[in-house]
Amino acid sequence: MQPLPEPLTYYIPEKWSEVIRVGSIVAVPLRSEEAAGFVIDLADKPDIRPQLVRPIARPLSPDYTLEPELIDLGRWIADYYFASLGETLATVSMIGLSDVRPRTRTLLRLAHVEHWLTRNRDQAPDGKRATAGHRQVIDALLTAGNRPMAAEDLRAAASVGPGVIKTMLERGWLVASDEIVERDDEYDVDGPPTRSEEIQLTPRQQAVHDELITALHSGAYHAFLLHGVTGSGKTEIYLRVIEEGLRTGRSAIVLVPEISLTPQVVEAFRRRLGGVVGVYHSKLNAGQKFDLWRRIRARETRVVIGARSALFSPLPNLGVVIVDEEHEASYKQDSTPRYHARDMAVLRATRAGAVVILGSATPSIESLHNAREGKYRRLTLPERIGPHASPVMTVVDMKRHVSQGSGELLGGHLISPLLEEAIHERLRRGEQVLLLLNRRGFANQVMCLACSQTLQCPHCDVSLTYHKTLDQLMCHWCGYKQRVPAVCPRCNKAGEIHKLGLGTQRIEETLAEKFPGARSIRIDVDSMRRKGAFQQAWRAITQGEIDIILGTQMIAKGLHLERVTLVGVISADFALFLPDFRAAERTYSLLTQVAGRAGRGQFPGEVILQTFMPHHYAIDAAARLAEEAFYERELHIRRMLRFPPFSRLAGLILSGKDEHLVRDQSAQLAGFLKTLAYRPRFRAVRVLGPTPAPIGRIEDQYRWRILIRSAHAGLLHTLLGDGLREFERHHKKSQVNLTLDIDPQDLL
Ligand SMILES: [Zn+2]
Ligand SMILES: [Zn+2]
Ligand SMILES: [Zn+2]
Repeated sequence: MQPLPEPLTYYIPEKWSEVIRVGSIVAVPLRSEEAAGFVIDLADKPDIRPQLVRPIARPLSPDYTLEPELIDLGRWIADYYFASLGETLATVSMIGLSDVRPRTRTLLRLAHVEHWLTRNRDQAPDGKRATAGHRQVIDALLTAGNRPMAAEDLRAAASVGPGVIKTMLERGWLVASDEIVERDDEYDVDGPPTRSEEIQLTPRQQAVHDELITALHSGAYHAFLLHGVTGSGKTEIYLRVIEEGLRTGRSAIVLVPEISLTPQVVEAFRRRLGGVVGVYHSKLNAGQKFDLWRRIRARETRVVIGARSALFSPLPNLGVVIVDEEHEASYKQDSTPRYHARDMAVLRATRAGAVVILGSATPSIESLHNAREGKYRRLTLPERIGPHASPVMTVVDMKRHVSQGSGELLGGHLISPLLEEAIHERLRRGEQVLLLLNRRGFANQVMCLACSQTLQCPHCDVSLTYHKTLDQLMCHWCGYKQRVPAVCPRCNKAGEIHKLGLGTQRIEETLAEKFPGARSIRIDVDSMRRKGAFQQAWRAITQGEIDIILGTQMIAKGLHLERVTLVGVISADFALFLPDFRAAERTYSLLTQVAGRAGRGQFPGEVILQTFMPHHYAIDAAARLAEEAFYERELHIRRMLRFPPFSRLAGLILSGKDEHLVRDQSAQLAGFLKTLAYRPRFRAVRVLGPTPAPIGRIEDQYRWRILIRSAHAGLLHTLLGDGLREFERHHKKSQVNLTLDIDPQDLL
């Protein structure tokens, strides 16, 4: 069922009047179906004719309520991101719209304890005779001090069948009671607790720490950008600020990118902060989420660590909000509501009077700009902790290694002689190597050399990727699969189809040829799909059972790999070819992050970057560790092009099966928006397009794009709201889908 744009009015049946309140989840009749929703307001009189008001069918999750603070935040998000309130509240609610109860189990204990202790155990107070089986049950419970036992435990302890216990319950000799059983989050703690007294802060850490603690004690909102190189000890600072918050009665939220929410990270927080740490992420089931919510409400959980949506934990007295790796694009949700968790974390901290810390080794351009504008205070940790300074970086210009004449980059040249020798050296010394290639599959260009056409997905405007493990061509956008054709579908020539381009699977094959005997592992979405695969891989890596770790950006983020002394980037250029104003920032950030994986243990690190564009400023800056130079250049370019952070963007994608309809309606919507933008008050707003989207078709849906750029968020919001209302008046029921992305992270 589609989410509704406006709230509806229902009445609360008498029998539910004690249960249903603001924030309740309820099932209601809607036309001839049943729908779920949140109660967002109570009124004495209906706003429509009373005869039309229908009753609420029943409460869902009757023990649960969505807190008023979060309903408010949800309203703000729905308005800002142009999402429906219902969908937004379902995102903000820890359990969504699900119907869950506490899990209970039945416990049994003896009635008439006095009687059994003092009298003959052959006869019950009701005069009935107790059999040998009955006496075994009585003895078992009395031995345990009549502590309530689950039926199956009692049967085992007394060695009796279920019939015996059933009879005793029926006769009232046993009393049953229900007990709530916690569903836990399956993150176990192995190591002993850690204590901050045992860890000496560097003078730099101490200064940063002191400033944060002062802000926390002020009890007012403060925002910090903690800009610390990889390995500079940001986590220790997070832990101490949270510790101090807990000591003074405040609670804390810690956001980490989904990919970095590893058992090791959770364990680090639990070993220091103990049982008050809860974990929230999308893969928990509704029961686990509900029990976490209960523990938060009971103030047993006072710190919640999790991915994006942990932001909406209803912790009272919030004092600390941490967004680790704040530059990560995954903080932006890619379905409605398309909110940015970092921005909403700042908003929530503002409302709660909390300290918010945005941490990163490579801050986003937006956050850096905000720091310069004085919105955030920037704190820096420019040095690594530990014996080794930053790794030694070398750039290899791959243009020199392309086979002469053919212009192709084939198997033998994927790894330059320099990188090859460096890998051999690590293998001889028994150290680990990490290789980054941010493209999965085997070959991303499958081309007919007779007609020079690459094979395309029949449903999307993208080329198919060859997956060696499946021996099939695959579309990474819609999942379409087919066998590699023997004959070219365009020119009908046979034997001309070649697999070109790079992918992790091809490198895996090259590694096996060049380094026989080396133990390697491939980490990408394809190889890590199976549940628990990542944990297993992680264990093998940390226990030294792996020599070469090969992977996509999954391996570049936040992993602390003690044994890695060499990082090789197979191709530093990939992101730079995307039509995206953040391409340089992404490239710089990824290279800097992956370089930070080298030499974090007792041995120094080395990084080798292979590239066809050694003079591109993002690659050059990453290689020279020229952080300030990169940010200066990037900010300059963004200012010249009036891209964020020097403007606000809204991306509109219209899509549908009928190409003409999509194009016509895009033109009409853009027309409405442009007419509005002519008005003097909207002088600072530009409407660009419509143009076909960079990927013009996905899953047989044609896609056109309109971009709105504005100097002010408020103006953009007003203009877009007016334009959309006008458009919707003309298209009540449309064959065309409209996707709206405020502050988009990419423009595909
Ligand atoms: Zn794939
Ligand atoms: Zn052909
Ligand atoms: Zn496709």
